[in-house]
Amino acid sequence: SNQNKLTTQEAQVAISQLQDELTDYGIAYYEKDAPIVEDHVYDEKYAQLVALEASFPQFVTPDSPTQNVGGAQTKSGLDKVQHPVPMLSLGDVFSLAELQEWEDRTVKALGSQPSYNLELKIDGLAVSLKYENGQLVQASTRGNGVIGEDVTANVLTIEDVPKQLTEPLTIEVRGEIYMPKASFVSLNEDRENQGQEPFANPRNAAAGSLRQLDAQETKKRKLSAFIYYTAEADVLGVTKQSEVLERFAELGLPTNKDNRVISKMAEIEPYLAEFTKRRDDLPYGIDGVVVKVDEIDSEIDLGNTVKVPRWSIAYKFPPEEEETVIREIEWTV
Ligand code: NAD
Repeated sequence: SNQNKLTTQEAQVAISQLQDELTDYGIAYYEKDAPIVEDHVYDEKYAQLVALEASFPQFVTPDSPTQNVGGAQTKSGLDKVQHPVPMLSLGDVFSLAELQEWEDRTVKALGSQPSYNLELKIDGLAVSLKYENGQLVQASTRGNGVIGEDVTANVLTIEDVPKQLTEPLTIEVRGEIYMPKASFVSLNEDRENQGQEPFANPRNAAAGSLRQLDAQETKKRKLSAFIYYTAEADVLGVTKQSEVLERFAELGLPTNKDNRVISKMAEIEPYLAEFTKRRDDLPYGIDGVVVKVDEIDSEIDLGNTVKVPRWSIAYKFPPEEEETVIREIEWTV
């Protein structure tokens, strides 16, 4: 490949340029909720950086975007919250071949064939919810994975999120806050009517709407949630990710019902085909499918890198075609 032909000095320059560029894109995306490039542009440059850093590991710096969970944590004016268990990103792949490579590594690391829970990758932003004796006491964003933002007042305005669980459990759960497509369309119409910049996509709209200093503003934005993770499955008395989702539903937490358990990666194809087809008809945005090792003990064995869990991988759909904006034409006669 080309990068092998770069001199060490050229590689150093290219790596540092990509790191700076991706950092700037990240600030626009995560801090300002207003991306300056399309996601696939970001993803392509990110992949270039990963490849270059792999060939020239001496230039991987701790502040490289490849070593950090991207996210806002300081500039919004919201209070900071520390996550005792870091909130990570997800590794991503773009083809069946790469999914198979991921499975091969996973089977090798575990020494046995795991089953997987397939979930839709909801296009929103991650949130952590703390319940004490069944009562919602704190909500926070992912931030940089270790320090997030306190959005408790904002999350309390989201109807989907129960203030009280059906059982008096003390547990931290995580999931996705998203903006339904219908809310997104009407919010952007309002913004344009008021001369404000429309949000680029439902994910940025959800993030911008959740990270408001005035919770009443969040309330107007009509956000929803799907909860899909806890690091404390033992509190729920279950041992599988698919069972975690069932217990969440019993507790009154909003869960996405389109998950599916498969016994090996080769069985993923019908699921990918189904949701590639149904994607546009869903009332919320999805940008892929998340594959999770179903057995939680195996997840723990596989562990995490500094940025992503090894027990899970995101398969990203190909970029959506540019939305065609059909505007009414005013005829003058
Ligand atoms: P990500 O959003 O691709 O994946 C990780 C996230 O997926 C998790 O934090 C969680 O919030 C979410 N998720 C949704 N459904 C889930 C489920 N069922 N189970 C588990 N997690 C689920 O990773 P990221 O690090 O947050 O962001 C990278 C993405 O952001 C890339 O797609 C990139 O294109 C985009 N980005 C774009 C720009 C830009 O300038 N356009 C800049 C930075 C990042």
